Amino acid sequence: MKDIGENLIKITMALLLSLGLGLQFNCSAEELAALQGEEEEEEDPLDQLIQEWLLYELFDIGNGACNVQQGLLLETLIAQYIAEGGTINDAASEDYDPHYDPIGDQPLPDLGAPIQKYILGPYGPQPITVFEYEPGVFMKESDMLFTEEQLYDYPDTAESAYLSSGYATSNANRWPQNADGATFKVPYTIDSSLPAETVSEINQAIAHWQERSFFRFVVRSGETDFIHFQDGNSGCNSYVSRIGGQQNINLAPNCGFGAAVHEIGHALGLWHEQSRTDRDSFVTIHFDRTDGDSNYQIESSHDIGDYDYESIMHYGSFYFATSDQPVMTKKDGSLIEPNRRALTDCDVTGAQTIHSNSTYNSNL
Ligand SMILES: [Zn+2]
Repeated sequence: MKDIGENLIKITMALLLSLGLGLQFNCSAEELAALQGEEEEEEDPLDQLIQEWLLYELFDIGNGACNVQQGLLLETLIAQYIAEGGTINDAASEDYDPHYDPIGDQPLPDLGAPIQKYILGPYGPQPITVFEYEPGVFMKESDMLFTEEQLYDYPDTAESAYLSSGYATSNANRWPQNADGATFKVPYTIDSSLPAETVSEINQAIAHWQERSFFRFVVRSGETDFIHFQDGNSGCNSYVSRIGGQQNINLAPNCGFGAAVHEIGHALGLWHEQSRTDRDSFVTIHFDRTDGDSNYQIESSHDIGDYDYESIMHYGSFYFATSDQPVMTKKDGSLIEPNRRALTDCDVTGAQTIHSNSTYNSNL
């Protein structure tokens, strides 16, 4: 917890911000009082969101080094609240479910039996269990896609590819640096058949990444490699890293802003937080409560920065559960409620580091 003085300053700032919101949304004095948490007649969803934000901002809930960026969460919470049908003047929305996660709660097609493949990690070939999503495309952990070129059938073929390309195995998978030497370019297109609401969420997700990182998303203008946002009738999913050519990010109508931010994270090279090599020090996987063991593999990838429960790339406790018992818990047994509201500092640092640090990107 931070010292009292700093907290007092933040509380004052929060109240001023609430006041500002009240003015901005033209609230009545009564509604403004509710915004500030002074009236407790009924649980107001907006009030809950603001309290949640205060917890994050004031008391460093989660991992201090990875905190959701200052001042950001409230803004995102309000936007999400409104996007889900809430209004500032009529805050009592019965449909709002803060625990709903579009990625984990999305029904998946039957993908058949798991397939054993190998992928080039930073330390050589590593086994990876995937499902065939469509011919030549493989899915892992319900939303990460890999091309045939990224995977190998046998460790020795992966080994020879690894040896021939050396450490630079993943360099082709970085997005290119702009001429300014400081930012990285990610061309994209948005499928014209997507509904306006999804397009709006994609634009918000792009703006969110762009505002907080050095990635510069540009509408494609002849570039060979680009992201194409579409609805693949398959939930919310994305290829991991730049794969070359057109790569789709699939977003079903109910994926929403948070899933769009998460799937862009995959396209920038991020895996799931709970697959870090150090994850067993932070979470317990109850393998007897899932029939999808392969969804909880540890990946031999780079762990960058601190373990981050609040990462937008972290899955929740009930993913792939075969009962109402949580599959993944924190070490103290408590549940993990996946953050689908905003990037954390560590999310941004992770994606930026694998692009900008020459240890990870020898293209530089
Ligand atoms: Zn994912």
